[in-house]
Amino acid sequence: MEIKTLSQLDLQNKRVILRCDLNVPIKDGVIIDDRRIRASLSTIRKLLAKDCSIVVIAHLGRPKPDQKNNLSLAPVAKRLSELLETEVAFSEEIIGIKQKTDSLKTGQILLLENIRFLAAETSKDELERKALSSELATYGQVYIGDGFGAVHRKHASVYELAKMMPHAAGDLIITELGVLEKLTMNPNRPYGVVLGGAKVSDKIGVISNLLEKVDLIAIGGGMVFTFLSAHGKEIGKSLVENDLIPTVKELMKRAENLGVKIILPTDIVVAKEFNAESNATIVASDEIPKDQMGLDIGPESARFFADEIGKCKTVFWNGPMGVFEFNNFSNGTRSVAQALTKIDGISVVGGGDSAAAVRKLGFSDQDFGYISTGGGASLEYLEGKELPGLVALS
Ligand code: AMP
Repeated sequence: MEIKTLSQLDLQNKRVILRCDLNVPIKDGVIIDDRRIRASLSTIRKLLAKDCSIVVIAHLGRPKPDQKNNLSLAPVAKRLSELLETEVAFSEEIIGIKQKTDSLKTGQILLLENIRFLAAETSKDELERKALSSELATYGQVYIGDGFGAVHRKHASVYELAKMMPHAAGDLIITELGVLEKLTMNPNRPYGVVLGGAKVSDKIGVISNLLEKVDLIAIGGGMVFTFLSAHGKEIGKSLVENDLIPTVKELMKRAENLGVKIILPTDIVVAKEFNAESNATIVASDEIPKDQMGLDIGPESARFFADEIGKCKTVFWNGPMGVFEFNNFSNGTRSVAQALTKIDGISVVGGGDSAAAVRKLGFSDQDFGYISTGGGASLEYLEGKELPGLVALS
């Protein structure tokens, strides 16, 4: 798929519609982590250097009609302005503002309110999405897609709008794709993938697609209990997706035939209740008591996972090894993160909860080869799926 870059589009003096991913965590009006905003700066600065005016479109969360107040992009406009050291105007209106966008002068930036406040943005009805994007298209002359975290969504401002206008991808998308290509085209070996998080169903596609490409897959988190259950082990009250057990069995058989090592924990940190104060005990993974649930991989497994990761030259990691939000159950995730920081090769943290976990546990972004800004988007890319937002930019 050939994707145009900023340098391949005539941008001089243009009014640009820029789709960014500014979906940052905000608590009580305060931005807790501004990395997605920072990741968008490179493209914005390049556009400013080309004397463009910029209409920025972005989303925040998944608003329902009664939730709007908590999901306004107003604090993001302020932060963006601070980071750029230039004024960023904010428009509460999204529709019917052509006059406002027409009057933007060179170097002026206007951020529109959360595009997902409009149901048409995410509508399943193509005509509704097209009606919205037709309106948005009147606000600029060219379209730059840079919201990597949203490229797996067939949304009006990501897909239809891009197709309607002369377009190119911004720097963030190009950087993310460069990293993902390293994971899929001739990766240095051994190549290991570490998967965790709550649900197997989210990761089945990735495991299936990467089986042909990797040397080892280490599995932890809540998803591991479906694997342990598929091996016939008692998993007590742990998370499980019973309907996926046949699929998991099939994957394990395929892995065996391909000579791919699937590593499962040999010990588990269990507790009676799902809460931060729960008493944590360590048991063998085939001795989980019926009345307890597994909330982290155990120390022996964490050491083993770390050793195996340490031998790899390429590692992709998505999903915490345990409930990292609770101190008692964060050690597995910490060990894996630590091992990733030391590998002699490329380590990629696949956004979402894994990125939140490494930051919460005190690691810095520079400790890793790359931390993706798009958890879902990078997973879907690695599943081998076509991402609408990239198709539209090709
Ligand atoms: P995901 O969004 O699928 O990557 O899942 C991330 C979430 O999985 C985090 O909030 C973790 O607390 C949770 N998680 C990890 N391990 C477990 C576990 N053993 N049981 C329940 N939840 C878990």
